[in-house]
Amino acid sequence: MAKKGQTYFCEICRQKVVVTKEGFGVLVCCGQEMRFVGARGMMATWTTAHHKPEDGVKFRCNVCGQEIDVIVETTGILECCGQRMQQKEANVH
Ligand SMILES: [Zn+2]
Ligand SMILES: [Zn+2]
Repeated sequence: MAKKGQTYFCEICRQKVVVTKEGFGVLVCCGQEMRFVGARGMMATWTTAHHKPEDGVKFRCNVCGQEIDVIVETTGILECCGQRMQQKEANVH
């Protein structure tokens, strides 16, 4: 299960997300489970490169309530609990 603050990425399209609210669902992108990125290594790289992950696009699962911030956005389809995640209307200008 995903925990708040954990980073996941898609091996196919390289999309990268951070969990902002825990849910019981499994994060899926491009039809396969997203890979958990460890706390060290890659994690340290992006925290310095991306200072404000809150500015990213946010998605929410309507089934388990899991919420994520997209750090590296691609055209890959994000899914959780077997359905597409809903984009939240954040930073509407
Ligand atoms: Zn879910
Ligand atoms: Zn993907």
